[in-house]
Amino acid sequence: MMGGATQLVAIVGSPIAQVKSPANFNRWFQENHLDLAMIPVDLHADAVPAFIDTLRGWHNLKGCVITVPYKQVIAPYLDHLSQRASLLGSVNVVRREADGTLCGDNVDGEGFVAAARQQGFAPEGKKALILGAGGVGSAIACALCEAGIAELVITDLDSHRVQALAATLHDAFPNTCIGHEYQSLADFDLVANASPVGMGDSGELPLPAAMLETLAAGCLAADVVTSPVTTAFLARAQALGATIQTGPQMARAQMGNLGHFMGVMPLGI
Ligand code: NAD
Repeated sequence: MMGGATQLVAIVGSPIAQVKSPANFNRWFQENHLDLAMIPVDLHADAVPAFIDTLRGWHNLKGCVITVPYKQVIAPYLDHLSQRASLLGSVNVVRREADGTLCGDNVDGEGFVAAARQQGFAPEGKKALILGAGGVGSAIACALCEAGIAELVITDLDSHRVQALAATLHDAFPNTCIGHEYQSLADFDLVANASPVGMGDSGELPLPAAMLETLAAGCLAADVVTSPVTTAFLARAQALGATIQTGPQMARAQMGNLGHFMGVMPLGI
């Protein structure tokens, strides 16, 4: 039950009814007997500047999780960005300091890597393929570089996105080998779908079916798509002997990172 002294965090996007974070955060706050609550905010694009001003003066709001379509939109309004948020030009979490200063970070990639470690995958020295160089694909690529991946191949239907991301990563992580072509999946330790392909009941694959058959048994196949939990890509990868990581596992793994940045949870939840 919320009272007058309840401290708030928010999740901001549009639409917002589909998000799982309020249920996950509020359950955790309740289980830990904390007078904290997460509210969903369905924000109109025209209201973003006024909302940012309101955030600065909102004393009992500790921070916001930022979701589609505002991750890139909100970043330029903030006072401080983490190095990776600045690199990516996007934020998925904002902390409001006591004086109203707003700080942003992007922990999408950190959540992905945390989930991968839970599956027994250590990125150090490995080779990964990322399908999709959009917001989430860029964050995953950046986090894998931070974690010491040796070789990264990035593809997207939009070749300009691949080139721009590769150039950014090359400058920031000169020791990581970044490519955009592959003939087979056989020598990848990780293959990640970071595109929306496979959402809903489409059953679509993010790469040709014949290429998927070259996946090595023992590889980690990961998907960012949250619904269905087991996409057609993951189902086939599992049948081929791969370990799989689902979109909800990635989302769950980053809850502690989001909560920690807003100052309402310890790391590692
Ligand atoms: P985005 O639109 O920024 O990027 C998607 C990219 O995928 C685009 O660049 C597009 O060209 C590319 N693409 C489409 N089909 C492709 C294909 N067959 N091969 C290669 N690239 C292809 O979207 P986004 O913000 O990166 O989100 C992508 C997905 O990630 C969404 O489904 C979103 O719901 C999901 N997501 C999951 C989590 C999680 O925690 N599991 C977190 C954030 C987003």
